[in-house]
Amino acid sequence: MTQLNSQFKKLSPSDSILVINCGSSSVKFSLIKPDNGETLLSGLAERLLTDEAVIKIEHKDEKKSYQLTSPFNHQTALAVLVEQLQSLNLVDNIGAVGHRVVHGGEQYSKPTLITPEVEQEIKQLSALAPLHNPANLIGIKACQAAFQHLLQVAVFDTAYHQTMPEKAYIYGIAYSLYQEHAIRRYGFHGTSHYFVAKQAAKQLNKPIEQCNLISAHLGNGCSITVIKNGKSVDTSMGMTPGEGLMMGTRCGDLDSGIIFHLVNSLGYSIEDVDKLVNKESGLLGISGLSNDCRVLQAAMIDDNNEQAKLALTVFCYRIAKSIASYSASLTELDGLILTGGIGENSSWVRSEVIKQLSLLNFVLDEEKNEATRFGASGNIATSSSRPCLVITTNEEWVIAEQTSQLLTNNAN
Ligand code: ADP
Repeated sequence: MTQLNSQFKKLSPSDSILVINCGSSSVKFSLIKPDNGETLLSGLAERLLTDEAVIKIEHKDEKKSYQLTSPFNHQTALAVLVEQLQSLNLVDNIGAVGHRVVHGGEQYSKPTLITPEVEQEIKQLSALAPLHNPANLIGIKACQAAFQHLLQVAVFDTAYHQTMPEKAYIYGIAYSLYQEHAIRRYGFHGTSHYFVAKQAAKQLNKPIEQCNLISAHLGNGCSITVIKNGKSVDTSMGMTPGEGLMMGTRCGDLDSGIIFHLVNSLGYSIEDVDKLVNKESGLLGISGLSNDCRVLQAAMIDDNNEQAKLALTVFCYRIAKSIASYSASLTELDGLILTGGIGENSSWVRSEVIKQLSLLNFVLDEEKNEATRFGASGNIATSSSRPCLVITTNEEWVIAEQTSQLLTNNAN
């Protein structure tokens, strides 16, 4: 590992980690204690690169919002964050910065200290994640400028899935495309699946190395991961986050022939297809109403909206079908994990999914299902059936913890 340069601050045990998740027009941030996950400050800068750019900061139950002044970019947002951290006397508590980086390719299976070489590789990996890695690099550069004395660590969303065997990651296309262009399945949401698997092991009272689980992360993006003896052995997202389950605005698995039909017969351009499958499909595409599960549930229940019902029905069927098919990777199954905004909160979706999984001996306890929402965790299955664990994910805590561990180990 690269030798730490003495110009950088040395991490002390009481330090917090600033966690940054930078998108093309947003920056999410939290200041977290790595040992217990306590969040000292958190917030979001959004609508960046427009004159409506705003930054919202939450500290000790107090929420503040500031309009950004020109230039409305990531650097300006971070400058406001630094000012606020200074005025709250929190800057000296920051020991390092941990960045969520979406694509780590085959190179990165662990958190990594960001050096100029690593930045270069993250840039090269933009070929596999053109929407995400360039935005993550903007965040890294902006933090290097704003926090010159702090070390920066990259925690990759793909890293946890690097234990997948070849049979799970090779596509059924010419092998040379893998050899020459790295076209293979990588999987995403790795930090979340890793976190909830560790929490599930605690709830099941078993060492993680002995746990066999299926984890469903259901948010705006959705993915399933199969965990064998604590390690990811298959996952539903692929080379990009577009594969697998149907999502808020992404279609998930789609017959590739439809793309040729759209282009050759219906006059779509490749850009139109890209917009269709990533931004206009999924829950939004079928309902014609919204990508938001809450809105669709309300429309279905309160207004009898048939399209909302169809969108949610397809969504749930595909989750159940996917969970059942991924069980083929295991010979034993300790339980199912449900997480992400929908998995943690939608008792309707959970009920609809679990009732289609009776063959795997998942049987819902309706009362527990209704009670386990809005931050509550626990088993929502009957005591005689296989556990269905609702677990609140916390990717930021994992990033803080792994950043701290890497720098502590590196210093020893
Ligand atoms: P992201 O993938 O952007 O992090 P989240 O994990 O926050 O997304 O999940 C967002 C989804 O969770 C939205 O579809 C939202 O409607 C859904 N959600 C949040 N709370 C509830 C709720 N109480 N009932 C149903 N769905 C909910």
